[in-house]
Order: sequence, then structure tokens, then C-alpha cells
Amino acid sequence: MLTRFAPSPTGELHRGHAYSAVLAHRAAREAGGAFRIRIDDIDGSRSREDYVAAALADLAWLGLDRDGDPVRQSAHLGDYAAALEDLRARGLVYPCFCTRADIAASLSAPHGPSGAIYPGTCRDLAETERARRIATEQHCWRLDMARAVALAGDLRWEEQGQGPRRADPLAHGDVVLARKDAPASYHLASTIDDAAMGVTHVIRGADLIASTDVHRLLQALLGLPTPLYRHHALVCGPDSRRLAKRDAAASLAALREAGVDGRALAEDLRQGRLPAGYSLQNP
Ligand code: GLU
Repeated sequence: MLTRFAPSPTGELHRGHAYSAVLAHRAAREAGGAFRIRIDDIDGSRSREDYVAAALADLAWLGLDRDGDPVRQSAHLGDYAAALEDLRARGLVYPCFCTRADIAASLSAPHGPSGAIYPGTCRDLAETERARRIATEQHCWRLDMARAVALAGDLRWEEQGQGPRRADPLAHGDVVLARKDAPASYHLASTIDDAAMGVTHVIRGADLIASTDVHRLLQALLGLPTPLYRHHALVCGPDSRRLAKRDAAASLAALREAGVDGRALAEDLRQGRLPAGYSLQNP
């Protein structure tokens, strides 16, 4: 039994992150398992070392002891590149040269669970054109979803307390697996690292449940094990909206610096107790 808490160091953590960390920590400790931290810092332009330090200080303040050193995604770029190469060799990914504006301008860009569905403009470019443009143009790599799903077949995962759930990766369209500005997408890096770390139970917010459609597919394509999942309700503030990193006043760092007792706050979260006006909601 191994759980993890995987913050992205792109802002200060808030009570919603604390809730997620507390649940993952408790699940591990109750089962005599391990609780690990992963720093999801593949996005070099948005990740900051001071946020990494603040997140680790927050976890210590909450009294959540961890096993082993934190894993840094930025140290595993070679693993993501190797997986991408594997998918490329099997014809499951293709280079895409479209800009955001190109995609937004496309009339056939409906929205799926993870944003605009890519209209497929670059899916069927000739090899010679691909080779020529790769050399000179910025590009990302997209999963050819229809091919991938045809290969992987019907997929399910076990949602704890709810039973099996059918993954619906097709609804996401041709997702990006490696970006122009980051060597791996969240989907690819998270799936590979959960397997590499030996995570048996992924406990995270319900805002990420749709991503599990894609993660389950990547597990099937890359021959990785499927953990159990638990997507928990999200902490919402007095305005009924889920907490966001941009609301610095509500950050754990601000509470910590104001002298709030972190262990007591963690215990409140364990018991599902939130400040007046806050609530737990399923999106
Ligand atoms: N790094 C992600 C985030 O902060 C969470 C990743 C995950 O739990 O799968 O939203």
C-alpha cells in the first residue's frame, strides 16, 4: 500500500491541498503503508523553488510525515521521453504544429472533459511534411486517440467505494503528451511516475477524475499497472467555488505564518470539519 501527494509548485497550497494530503496520508498510515511526496515540476516556466519549499514546510506543519525523499518529476524527463519514443515507434503519437489560436479558430473544436477537442488538423500529415516541419517549427506530440483506443480496447478502473468505472478516453480527443514548452504533459508524467513509485492508491481531488480516462489508457499502452483510485470531494470557500492557488490570503503558508496550529487543522480536515462557510462539494 503506497499513496502519494503530488503538488505542482506553481503557487501556494491551500486547504484543498491539505485535505487531499491528509486523506492520502491517513489511508497509508491506517494500512501500515507508505506515504510519499511527488513534486510535479515538469512545467519549467511556471514551477518555482520557493513554492516547493513552501509545500514541504506546509506538510511538516500539518504533521504529515512522509516516507523517503520527495520525487521530482523534473529529474525523470528521460523516462517520459523514452515512453514517448515507444509510442512514437508504434505510430500512436504524431507531431502537431497548431497554435492555440489555430485550434480555437477551428469550427470543429467542441469541448471535452479536458478542454477543446483537437480537430485533428495534423493527424494525417505526410511523413515527409512532418519531417520537414519538425526540423523548423515548434510542435507538441499528440496521442492518436482513435488508434490508441482501438488497440487498448475497453478499459476500467476501480473507484474506491463506488466499484468499477469505465474509462472514456475517446471523449478527450487527441490529447497532448509532450508540449512545446514542457517535455511531458501532466497525463504522461503522472501515469509513468505513479507506476515508477509503486503507487497502489491514487487519492486526489474529483477535479482530476476525467484525467483518469487518459491515465488508464496510457497504463494499458505502456504496460503499467493500474492503481485503485479515490477522487475526493473538493474544498469550496464561502463563495461556493473551489479554492484556487491565486487566493493567496487563504494559503496554508499564510495560515502557518499567522501562527495557526497545523496539526489541529489537519485533524479538523480528517474529521471533515471546515471553517464556517466552507464546504466539501463534488463537481
Ligand atoms: N500535480 C497535480 C495538481 O497539483 C495533481 C496530480 C495528481 O494528483 O495526479 O493538480
